[in-house]
Amino acid sequence: MGRKKFVVGNWKMNGSIEENQSLFDGLLSAKGIESVDIAVCVPSPYFFQARGALSGTAISWGAQNVSEQDSGAYTGEISAKMLVDLGAEIGLVGHSERRSMFGESSGLVGKKAMKLIEFGISPVVCVGETLEHRKSKKTLEVMSSQLKAVIDQIGLENLGNIVLAYEPVWAIGTGLTASPEQAQEVHSHLRQQVRLLDVEASRELRILYGGSVKPDNAEALFGQEDVDGGLIGGASLNLIDFLTICRAAVNATTH
Ligand code: PEP
Repeated sequence: MGRKKFVVGNWKMNGSIEENQSLFDGLLSAKGIESVDIAVCVPSPYFFQARGALSGTAISWGAQNVSEQDSGAYTGEISAKMLVDLGAEIGLVGHSERRSMFGESSGLVGKKAMKLIEFGISPVVCVGETLEHRKSKKTLEVMSSQLKAVIDQIGLENLGNIVLAYEPVWAIGTGLTASPEQAQEVHSHLRQQVRLLDVEASRELRILYGGSVKPDNAEALFGQEDVDGGLIGGASLNLIDFLTICRAAVNATTH
């Protein structure tokens, strides 16, 4: 059996009780998207709303960040234990906005991923190169090193517990998108790196593409052999656009 496509919305610091509810209601009543996995990563003040609306449904929800610590004097942080208490199923780690704005290193990203795994939550580990890396043909090297730093923390035994998201930094929120061929090249490289360590895990690993995925480019991206879905920022805030992207994942599965 092939890998089931996965579409994850990253709402970032957006939303209101009213807007969220209409997105939740729209996602829950949508038809024809049952064959793909769908999740939304909501801002922490709305975890309770997500739990109320989505628990026990086909739509999962999760966090956009987590502390690498268990508990204690870490003002403003959110622990994996709290997430599991609330019923979160996934957590983003290593989003490029966290890396660039909050100085998160790949080692820290790996620690956060491990903390989620410890609590039974699937980390969606984001990796991606800057435009400078791409221009200087360092993309694959940077991908290997960001991935290795995470594997060093989680260990080979947890390779089967993560989802990867390739998010070229130059494509996030910019309207620029990697071409399907550029995405496939990096996804295939990432899978190959995992294959060198664990063949079975590499076959099952889902690698999402993120970076200005829109209704008009989603199907071509998701149609690539090693692209197992998407991490969607801006377009996940618009119900019609997000559902169109989810349906693109359905179509890419069936073709
Ligand atoms: C993201 O935030 O992960 C992302 C890919 O954003 P956008 O789709 O807006 O580029």
